[in-house]
Amino acid sequence: MITPDQIALAARAIREGGLVAFPTETVYGLGANALDASAVRRIFRLKGRPSTSPLIVHVDTIDMARSLVAAWPAAADELARRHWPGPLTLVLPKQPVVPGEVTAGLDTVGIRMPAHPVALDLIRAAGLPIAAPSANRFTQLSPTTAAHVRDAFGDSIPILDGGPTQVGIESTVLSLAGDEPVLLRPGIIPFAELRRITEPTAGAHPSPGMHERHYSPRTPLAIVDGDLLPAGRVAYLYIRRPLHAARVIPMPATPEGYAAALYSTLHQLDREGFDSIAVERVPATAPWAGVADRIERAAK
Ligand code: AMP
Ligand code: MG
Repeated sequence: MITPDQIALAARAIREGGLVAFPTETVYGLGANALDASAVRRIFRLKGRPSTSPLIVHVDTIDMARSLVAAWPAAADELARRHWPGPLTLVLPKQPVVPGEVTAGLDTVGIRMPAHPVALDLIRAAGLPIAAPSANRFTQLSPTTAAHVRDAFGDSIPILDGGPTQVGIESTVLSLAGDEPVLLRPGIIPFAELRRITEPTAGAHPSPGMHERHYSPRTPLAIVDGDLLPAGRVAYLYIRRPLHAARVIPMPATPEGYAAALYSTLHQLDREGFDSIAVERVPATAPWAGVADRIERAAK
């Protein structure tokens, strides 16, 4: 468990311009003071992330979110009150106080309030918004445990170990910066539920930082529709239809359960060393959109 002393130390590291890995309910984040351009540049260097990929800023109150944006429309207020703390990122026009390093030079900033007590305690203790991407090297699998973070970065940064993350895939990203709301990244909060309040236009528009995204295991991954598996030693993940393979892994039949298990399953299979990972195609319905998106990106 995490002690108040560990939080205080980590908060001091953030205030002094350092990096800290911390748990959120989605995946582990690699955090820095969002208002300190040179601290934020350290995140990009350590991850090997291209500077064209904007970071999400994590806040502990709606007031802190509002201090970062030039406009706080009614839809933002309604969505924040309904889903925060939670796995929803809102993209809004930024205030000059947010450095261009955080937003990849865009005049908008992505903000969310994470639903994890350690993340909220850290932000509160630091007294600052914390910019954080996932705590992995660029293009690799996102970490859902502290051990995954240690595998990527060793002891080069402090890691707050809050146990396995609950949601397991990255947040839903919704832009409220234009005339109409736009879904930039599907997540576990489905599009259809967001549409009730905001009625986004169908289909994701391209946004900087999305084109190069990967969430890939080292082992090649293929999506399977029929009963034909790739050749060699295969691990097969399924919901409905088991097939013969070296490893056959039943996955949870709900999108929430599947998302929570997905990355840790892929991390584990990477360690075991298969020729390929085959994944039965998941349902093409709105609640599954976030999971389907991560599997498709992993298959690229
Ligand atoms: P990650 O930190 O890896 O979860 O990725 C953050 C993602 O949030 C980016 O790839 C974008 O899709 C999205 N995002 C963050 N900030 C912005 C922004 N200002 N404009 C558009 N998309 C953003
Ligand atoms: Mg990431």
